[in-house]
Amino acid sequence: MSEQSTINYSSRGTGSGIKRIALFGSTGSIGTQALDVIRANPNLFSVEILTAQSNDELLIKQALEFQPNMVVIGDDKRYLKVKEALKNEPIKVFAGEQSLEEVAAMDNYDMMLAAIVGFAGLKPTLKAVETGKLIALANKETLVVAGDIVMQKAVEKRVAVIPVDSEHSAIFQCLVGETRNRIEKVVLTASGGPFLGKKPNFLVNVKRDHALQHPNWNMGAKITIDSATLMNKGLEMIEAKWLFNLKPEQVQVVVHPQSIIHSMVQFEDGSIKAQMGLPDMKLPIQYALAFPQRIVNKFPRYDFRKPGQLTFEEPDTKTFRNLVLATDALYKGGNTPCVLNAANEIAVYAFLRNRIGFLDMTDLIERTIQHVPYIEKPTLEEYFESDAEARNFAASLIKL
Ligand code: NAD
Ligand code: MG
Repeated sequence: MSEQSTINYSSRGTGSGIKRIALFGSTGSIGTQALDVIRANPNLFSVEILTAQSNDELLIKQALEFQPNMVVIGDDKRYLKVKEALKNEPIKVFAGEQSLEEVAAMDNYDMMLAAIVGFAGLKPTLKAVETGKLIALANKETLVVAGDIVMQKAVEKRVAVIPVDSEHSAIFQCLVGETRNRIEKVVLTASGGPFLGKKPNFLVNVKRDHALQHPNWNMGAKITIDSATLMNKGLEMIEAKWLFNLKPEQVQVVVHPQSIIHSMVQFEDGSIKAQMGLPDMKLPIQYALAFPQRIVNKFPRYDFRKPGQLTFEEPDTKTFRNLVLATDALYKGGNTPCVLNAANEIAVYAFLRNRIGFLDMTDLIERTIQHVPYIEKPTLEEYFESDAEARNFAASLIKL
């Protein structure tokens, strides 16, 4: 098992047994489900920080219910509204991107749940690592962009990065008790998304509303599109590499449309461990928040006696070329995953605004990777520069 996973996972806390949570991205799909878990377990968790980008209404509602120490609204035009709504509460209100980092550095919490979407999650998450907080990581883009720097810092600071992404949570769970045993490979399962079995002549006409309908998971818009293009699985391959200290060839993807096996680890003796359950993000969220403890819950259980099959197939990489681009980026390393991620963010938001077609997303990402110069061992600065350059170039390819 990797060097990272030998670090001390013992939970830190107030001594009262209550883990103090900073929930970055509290209004999103992961954020709201995390609050459901916290609401159900007031003896285990308290909420110290809540942050949101623009959904001020929900942020206010959450703050009134959970009474955190502080909240951050990313969009500073909404600061006064949030401030006014919370003026009779003992809750500090901050606004803007810079505040996210400053709040992440504060010492009034034990664990950050990193649930911001996209590149925007990197800086606050890195700040939390640098200041020694436990990390429950949903924001996979943080590791896709700068996994080497983030994980190096985590090792240095003896900080545990506990995955929330269901596949990585599955792998993490399979690795408990296996500290001395080496991984032969990990197998990430992919549902295949809403367009499993479709070909390019179909995909060329796909519109946003269709692509936003995922068969098994109810998630934020960006990751739902990433799931439809299979970019999500590509990003997850890169995420797995950094989380579990793997070589690219140790990361495999298999399509498993039922999403019951969340991923698998094959050890050196050929033995395979899988983690299974009904697809429900609350499970990996609560596992990460409470690790190493498991929490009793009433979530629906998978029933093996019901008719049904678990099936597996190869991903169709001829049709879903984003997976090829991401696999290439995984092998190439350097700033390529960062560029891939930036171009993908531009492509997905352009698709969501009906500015480009479904298949255009792949072309845009491919051309951006060809355009931005390769850097083998980027500094953090260089990652930010590569991200900006990729965004500018990708945006310039979208016709006005
Ligand atoms: P979402 O769009 O539903 O929510 C995103 C959250 O981030 C919101 O609270 C929003 O206010 C905040 N945010 C957005 N842009 C921001 C910015 N520029 N600055 C600061 N905050 C910003 O997204 P989600 O589906 O909850 O996903 C969050 C992360 O978790 C993503 O990285 C995603 O890949 C990962 N993830 C999600 C799921 C899922 O089931 N939703 C599963 C696995 C991994
Ligand atoms: Mg996932």
